[in-house]
Amino acid sequence: MPYCFKCNRKIERGQGVRKEVYTGHHKSAGFSGNRPWAGKRKYYAMRIVCNDCAKPSTSESLFTALTVMFLLFLLWCFRGWVC
Ligand SMILES: [Zn+2]
Repeated sequence: MPYCFKCNRKIERGQGVRKEVYTGHHKSAGFSGNRPWAGKRKYYAMRIVCNDCAKPSTSESLFTALTVMFLLFLLWCFRGWVC
């Protein structure tokens, strides 16, 4: 039985969602010819997460909605002052 990568919950058969998750990065540097180079490699891996973790959390989307509303409000106020 697989477990959720994020919340460690047990995933029932056919319930999990396969997702590409960021697992870390690897920095490397060196010389090619006589020019130094530095690179950063990102690693992603396929992990299984439960349905709850697969969908964006409600608090997160609520926060985004509030931010957008706040910005629109600011824009509206600013327009009021200018015109
Ligand atoms: Zn989960």
